[in-house]
This record gives sequence, C-alpha cells and structure tokens, in this order.
Amino acid sequence: MPLALLLSRIRLPAVKMPSTRSNASARLVRASRADLNPVVREVKRESSVSFDVSKCESTASVKRKRVKRELEVNGEYPKKQVGIVPDIEDFRYDRTKAVPSSSKATLSSVKVEEKVRVSSVMKAKAPENWEAVLGGIKNMRLSGQAPVDTKGCEKAGSLLPPKERRFAVLISTMMSSQTKDEVTHAAVERLSENGLLDPDAIVRIDEATLANLIKPVGFYQRKAQFIKEASKICLERFGGDIPDSLNELLALRGVGPKMAHLVMSIAWKNTQGICVDTHVHRISNRLGWVFREGTKQKTTTPEQTRMSLEKWLPKDEWEPINPLLVGFGQTICTPLRPKCDMCGINNLCPSAFKESSSPNPKQKKTRS
Ligand code: SF4
Repeated sequence: MPLALLLSRIRLPAVKMPSTRSNASARLVRASRADLNPVVREVKRESSVSFDVSKCESTASVKRKRVKRELEVNGEYPKKQVGIVPDIEDFRYDRTKAVPSSSKATLSSVKVEEKVRVSSVMKAKAPENWEAVLGGIKNMRLSGQAPVDTKGCEKAGSLLPPKERRFAVLISTMMSSQTKDEVTHAAVERLSENGLLDPDAIVRIDEATLANLIKPVGFYQRKAQFIKEASKICLERFGGDIPDSLNELLALRGVGPKMAHLVMSIAWKNTQGICVDTHVHRISNRLGWVFREGTKQKTTTPEQTRMSLEKWLPKDEWEPINPLLVGFGQTICTPLRPKCDMCGINNLCPSAFKESSSPNPKQKKTRS
C-alpha cells in the first residue's frame, strides 16, 4: 500500500472524534479548537509535530490527556471541583441570598451574630489603683445632680407596672442614642401623655404622628419607624412584653449592643454585659482602663471598650458603672475641657489637665 494512503488512514481517527467520547473530553477538545489561548495553540503544534506513524496507538485520547495536563499546569483547565471551599465573597453572597424570606428567625440570628461579639472569657489584670479611682468617682457622684440621675433611661416609666415599665425602658433606650437625656425624657413624657407607652397604641398610630411627637430626638423619623416595628414584634411574638434575651433584643432594628445590655439590666435585672455609651467609652480611655486587644493602645469603639472592661471589672460593678460614668461625664469629665481642677481623682488620672488647659481652637472660634 502506498505510504501516502497509509498515512491518511492513520490520521483519520485523530480528526474525527469517536462518538463515545466523554463530556470532559468533548469540552477539552472544544477548548483546544477555540485556538484563542496561546498555551492551547502551543500544545496543538507540539502534538502534531510529535505524531509518529509508528505509534498508531497514540490516539486522540492520549493527546487529549496530554493537552489536559499541560492546561492544568498552566492553570487554564480547572481541576476537579470536589471539596473546594467557597471564597469569602461567595460565602457572603450565600449568607444573604440563601436564606428564604420566610426564615426570618434564621436571618435575624445571622444579623445578631454580626451585631455583637461575645466577650472573651479571658481575664485581664485590673489597672493599678482602679478601686481608689472608682471610689473617688462615686464620692463625686454622691450629689446626684447629673441629668442621668433624674432623666436617664433608668427612670423611664418608673411609676408604671412592671410590664409597661419594661416597654417604656425599651422605647426610651431606642430614642436615647445621639440624644441628650433631657430631650429623651421629654419625648417619653409626651408619649405617656398621649397614651403611647403601649405597643398596641404605637402600632395603631401613624408613623408621621409618632415622629412628630418624639421630635427633636436625634433621627426621630428613623427612630419612629424602628419603634413601630419593635412594638409590632412585641405584640406578635412576646404578648405585648419586650424580648427577655440579649439576642432577641439585638434582633430588633435600631437596637445595638449598648441598648440591649442596658435594657437587660434595667428592665429585666439581668446584667449580661456593660452598657458602654460615649461617656463610658471616653472616660475609660482617659483613665487608662481599657486597651485594644493585644495592644497598649486606646480603644476606638464602644464595643472594644466593653470587651476590655469586662475582662477585669468585677461583675457586680457592670450595671452601676454606666450611670456612674455617664453622670461623671455630664458634670466633670466632660467631652471638651474636662474640669480636672474640680476632679477628686486628678492625682490618680493619667489624663489629668492634658485636655482641660488647651481648648479646641475651632470651639474657641465658634464661641467668640
Ligand atoms: S482628672 Fe480630668 S481627665 Fe481625669 S478623670 Fe478627672 S476630669 Fe477626667
């Protein structure tokens, strides 16, 4: 038989793919035919050059395996997708999209996990002289003349029966962020006068009227929306009472860790963590009581402060520390120009007179 005829017969299977080829092989051949990738072109050239008539068993299947190996080495062909962990973006997507809209409890629990981190059980060494400092602050607070002493969330609905009082504490706490105690207290009074310290009444009133009633509380429109939502949940899931766990409180929109801890302490007398607001955060840092995890740097968020404080402050101080430092911050250790000359612990405080003698130039300019 002429050599040319023999060659043409031998090459035929490599051009016409066997009809029984696997899907993977078919994909691979399609990929090699695309001729778009230089790596693929190189492999094809090499295959045809190395074709040897004497090795008729080097069929398309052998070439396909070699092409696949080459592509895998060059990262052009995906290896088997078994057991591959999704990357962070995929996981994030799955978490938000995979939860059916009907599974609100599941979604809430995911959100709650994001809202609060559990305190570390590890203990830290208490700061030097902390008991003397705390005692000094308690002495300065004996007069009870700070706004928090008469108009804080702790006082909301204090004359009401327990269930109504708990609701008043929740609503007062939700209104208190970014708002002075006096303003929050006045808003609670207006709600009380209008018979609105009651979840059923709040659900029935329209949102705009509620917003007008609590104005000028900070972000009053958004808070009116959250208060209505929380009231509906209280009615539907808790028989008109408020949630009695940290996680269920945190599942309410508009309630963060600070508020949830405060409500658990005041409404349920079940302190599970320290309520750290802006005063507790600032003063704890001025006193050198708190540090960022694993550093000697000041904390930058109330949550960092809470976790740092909880590592060494005895638990029986967790509830009283909030009103104690809030009142101290409202009267003496104020955000701007603390009154260090009047402070009974200025001999123990590492920040004494560091901020009081140099007022912010911008503030000075504004005042003049
Ligand atoms: S000495 Fe000044 S900075 Fe320190 S706690 Fe007293 S008021 Fe605050």
